[in-house]
Amino acid sequence: MAFEGLAERLQGTIKKITGKGKVSEQDVKEMTREVRLALLEADVNFKVVKDLIKRIKERAVGQEVMESLTPGQQVIKVVKEELTELMGGEQSKIAVADRPPTVIMMAGLQGAGKTTTTGKLANHLRKKHNRSPLLVAADVYRPAAINQLETLGSQLEMPVFSMGTEANPVDIAKQAVERAKEAHHDYVIIDTAGRLHVDDDLMDELQQIKDAVGPQEIFLVVDAMTGQDAVNVAESFNQQLDISGVVLTKLDGDTRGGAALSIKTVTDKPIKFAGMGEKLDQLEPFHPERMASRILGMGDVLSLIEKAQTNVDEKQAKDLEEKMRNMSFTFDDFLEQMGQVKNMGPLDELMSMIPGANKMKGLKNAQLDEKQLAHVEAIIQSMTKAERQDPSLMNASRKKRIAKGSGTSVSQVNRLLKQFEEMKKMMKQMTNMQKGKKGKGMNF
Ligand code: GDP
Repeated sequence: MAFEGLAERLQGTIKKITGKGKVSEQDVKEMTREVRLALLEADVNFKVVKDLIKRIKERAVGQEVMESLTPGQQVIKVVKEELTELMGGEQSKIAVADRPPTVIMMAGLQGAGKTTTTGKLANHLRKKHNRSPLLVAADVYRPAAINQLETLGSQLEMPVFSMGTEANPVDIAKQAVERAKEAHHDYVIIDTAGRLHVDDDLMDELQQIKDAVGPQEIFLVVDAMTGQDAVNVAESFNQQLDISGVVLTKLDGDTRGGAALSIKTVTDKPIKFAGMGEKLDQLEPFHPERMASRILGMGDVLSLIEKAQTNVDEKQAKDLEEKMRNMSFTFDDFLEQMGQVKNMGPLDELMSMIPGANKMKGLKNAQLDEKQLAHVEAIIQSMTKAERQDPSLMNASRKKRIAKGSGTSVSQVNRLLKQFEEMKKMMKQMTNMQKGKKGKGMNF
C-alpha cells in the first residue's frame, strides 16, 4: 500500500506529541529527529529532508506553536503543511489549448507504465471531464507497444491512431494532430517510445516530436517503486525536455514514498497524477494535501467521497447516511455496500482514506482480501432475513449452521459479528464527529 512504512513511522512519532498541552524545544528536537529518520528511511532525497526539517523546526519552536492553545496539534499542523508543500502545495490541473485539440505527450522509460497510463488518462478525461481523446501509438520500436495501446483503445472503445512500425514518430504525431482536428477530438495523447535508460537518441526523438506538435503538456511517467532512481530520471528528462508534470505510477506498491516526496523539490515540476493499480480506472489526480493527510493517518475523506460519487448511486448513499445516523444499519445494508465498495477499488487503499481506521487494530490486522470478502458474503447469505436485521437472534447452534452453510467456521462467524458491531460504533463516532465539525464551522 502506498506510503505504508513511512505512514506507520510518522504516525508513531506524531502520536507522542499530539495531546501535549505544552511542547518544549526538546520535544520538537526529538520529534524532528524521528521525522528525519523516517523520511530518510523512506528514501526521500537527503537535501529535501534537510530543508524540510529545518523549516519544521523553525516553525514548531516559533510563536505559532508555543503560544497556541493546542501546541501538540499545532506542531502536527505544521508537519502536515510542510509535507503538503513538499509535494507541490496546490493540486495542479491539466492544461487546455486555446484551440482544440490539447496535445499531451507521454514520455518515460520502458516499463514505467507509460502505455497503461496513456489509456488511464484517456479514460479519466472522458469519465471526469467529458472529453473525447485520440490515442496515438508513436512507439515504433516495440511492435508490442502499438498492439498494447490498440488493445487498451478497444477496451475503452476509443480510437487509436497508428501508422505501423515503419513510419517516423514525428510524422505520426503530426498526422495524428491533423486527424484529431478533422474528427473533432479535443485531446490527443501521444504514447512515445521508451528506452531502458535515458539516452541521447531517445531525447532527440522526443525533442523533435515536441518541436513538431508543440504539446500543451509533456507528462513524464515514472515508477514510484524505483525511489530515488525515479527522481534522477525525472531530473534528466526535465533538464533535456522541460517536462510540464510527472505521473507517478505504481504508488499502490510503494510503501516508502521517497519519489513522491522528492520529485517536486528536485525538478520543480508537479506530480499531476498517481497510478494506483493496473486497471484503467486506477489513476488519481495527485492532491498534495490529501496525500499528506494520508501519510499522517488523518485519512482522506475527500478522495473517498469522490470515489464514492463516481461509483455509488446517490440515493443509496443518502439512505445509507440516514441509516448510519440512526444506527439502523443491518447486514443486508452491509451486503449491498460490499457490492458497491468492490467497485471502488482495493480495500486497503480505501481504508487508508478513512481517518483513524489504521489505528483500529482489528481492522488493520484483518486481511482485506477478495477471498475473505467472499467468506463474509457467504456468511451473511446463510443468515435468515430476521438475523440480518437483528444479529442477536443468532445462538450457538444457529452460528454452527451458518458456518456450515457458508463453508466457514464458527470463529469466522463470530469474528464477523464482532467486526460488524465495531463498525457500527465507528460509524456512530464518525457521524458524531461530522456533526461536531459542522457546528464549529471548521474548514480543513
Ligand atoms: P511502458 O513500457 O512504460 O509503456 O509500461 P506499461 O504501460 O507496459 O506498464 C508496465 C507494467 O506496469 C504493466 O504490467 C502495467 O500493468 C504495470 N503498471 C502500470 N501502472 C501501474 C500502477 O499504477 N500500478 C501497478 N501496480 N502497476 C502498474
